[in-house]
Parts: sequence; structure tokens; C-alpha cells
Amino acid sequence: MKSAIVNRIRELDGMIGNTPMLEIKYSFKNELRRVFVKAEYYNYTGSIKDRMAIHILDKAYAEGLICPGDQILEATSGNTGISFASLGSALGHKVTIYMPDWMSEERKDLIRSFGAEVKLVSKEQGGFLGCISLTEKYASQNEGVFLPCQFSNKYNVEAHYLSTGPEIQKQLERIDLIPDAVVAGVGTGGTIMGVGRYFKEKNSGFRAYPLEPSNSPTLKTGGEVVGSHRVEGISDEFITSILELDKLDKIIGVDDGDAIIMAQKLASKLGLGVGISSGANFLGAVTVQNILGKNATVVTVFADDNKKYLTTDLLKEEPVREDHLSTDIELLDLKSHLI
Ligand code: PMP
Repeated sequence: MKSAIVNRIRELDGMIGNTPMLEIKYSFKNELRRVFVKAEYYNYTGSIKDRMAIHILDKAYAEGLICPGDQILEATSGNTGISFASLGSALGHKVTIYMPDWMSEERKDLIRSFGAEVKLVSKEQGGFLGCISLTEKYASQNEGVFLPCQFSNKYNVEAHYLSTGPEIQKQLERIDLIPDAVVAGVGTGGTIMGVGRYFKEKNSGFRAYPLEPSNSPTLKTGGEVVGSHRVEGISDEFITSILELDKLDKIIGVDDGDAIIMAQKLASKLGLGVGISSGANFLGAVTVQNILGKNATVVTVFADDNKKYLTTDLLKEEPVREDHLSTDIELLDLKSHLI
């Protein structure tokens, strides 16, 4: 039974990662530039979180932390829940997801569509941190429960160190480029820590910039939540234990309205139907080029696509503000580099 599941994990892993690398040409204040972006919505369930979910399950089976038929319980803002719900269904595990109740309806319905149970937790019940403590409480009172613990599991970071980083390296090497920097919105911090570590080990001058919404920062404030924001999937109310800010570079802030407008532009100008964090990450890459120079080879990720945001402000008209970067960005061309 266990070896059949381990084989199935290998098969599923074959449908995760090896995503296209997009080269996006744009102008900023009439200066011609380009950035490189991993199109992570090509993963099995449509987001970057598949990479860490399959790696955590693979390691859990290898280390005997999960048994066939065990229940999987996870706290998540959405994409991780979708990954575990789908993979759990494929591997014969019952999945229960604890999620803040303010996340998009599409996220909740998608998780339920895989047969998983969704437990909604309000701000008054503790929000994100409440979700985590509820999973821990349930596991302490019940047998046969596996907690992936994405916020503290080292295999979350390792998934990106072993897959996302090497893929970026390979895809850029083919066009004779060496990356100077990566920027990525921080949810758990798995992406920025894993890709950052991979390239910093190769090149001490490599920069890894964590990104968060400037109108609701958590990192800059040392973990204290300020305000609210609309970039689902990042800035989840606390600083996770896998995020080591001392190993990263400057925190980049992006206004959530600017991220929405940028995601809208990526869809309407280049046909890239991406989520709001992708808009934020694109603006993050532009900001990093403003710091390092217009010719810097900067990489980021489009973590998911727009289909989970159809009922959100992504599909509404967003007011333009004077300090928005997106106003000065003209998207010019798109090229795809396959693996
Ligand atoms: N964008 C989206 C849409 C996400 O769902 C997530 C994960 N919560 C992230 C970005 C951040 O990724 P990570 O958890 O690796 O920091």
C-alpha cells in the first residue's frame, strides 16, 4: 500500500514544476527593460504551492510521518489548501482545511470540489493564527492526523531550493544569463527563502528581496499587522519561522491597488491571466531594477492565475493613485522559454 502511494507521488510530481519562464519586455518611464517570470499556474492544481505540497508529502512518507489513510489537516489562505485537497484525494487521504473566512469564494469552493472539508475561521476566532492552533488542537486529540505545517516545515523551503531555483538557473543559462536577483511576495516565505538560498550559495552578490503589501505590512513592522490588503496569498498576519529575514535583502513594498492594476494590465496587454500577487511580484521586479539598474537580470514568479479572483476587486475598476508604478509601465512583448 505504502509503496503504491510512493509511486503515485512520483507520478504526480511529474506534473508539478518545469514551468515555462516568461521573458516580459516593458518600458518604465520610456526606458526599455525586461524581466523573467516563472509561470507557476502551469502546475498541477494551478499554483506554486504544488511544489511544496508534493515535496512535504514525499518526505513525510519517506520519514514515516504519514501513513496511508491518515487525515491531512492544514491552515492556509487557499492555494496550499487546493494543493493538499487535490493531492490528498489522489492519494486516498481525507483532507480538512482551516482557512480565514475572508478569502475568495472560489478558493473555498475549489477546495470543497476535491472532496475536502473547509473550516472557516473568523478574525474574532483568531484568523490565521487561530487556523494554525485549531489544527494543532485537533491533532493532539485525534489519532492518524498529519499536519504539513507549511509555515514551519523546512521542506517547504527545500522544495524551492531543489526545484524552482535549479529550473530558473537552467532556463536562464540557455540564453546565456546569470540572475542578479529574485523578488517574491511572502506568504510562508518558502519561495523567497528556497530560491534565495539556491542562488546565494552560488553567488554571494545575488540578492533575494521579500515583498509585501505596503498598505498592510507585516515584515517591516516586525510581525505586527497594520491595516488590511487585497493580495490574497501573501502577508498572512505574522512572520513565519521558516522566513529568515537576516538572510534576505531589503523588504519591497507594493500597494495592493497598484498590484491589481498591474495584474489587469498583464491580462489585457499580454494575455497573461494572472492573480493579484503576480501583479505585485511584477511591480516588485520593476522596483528591484530601479535599485540595481535597468539591465539587472531579475526573476520573479506568477504564483497563480486569475480564475480564483473573479469575484474580487481584480475584476473591478481600481482607482489610480499618484504613487502607483503601474502608470509608468508599458508592457511591450512576451516570449516563453520552456524547460
Ligand atoms: N502568491 C500566492 C497567490 C500564494 O498563494 C502564495 C502562497 N500563500 C504566495 C504568493 C507566497 O508564496 P510562499 O508561501 O512561498 O511565500
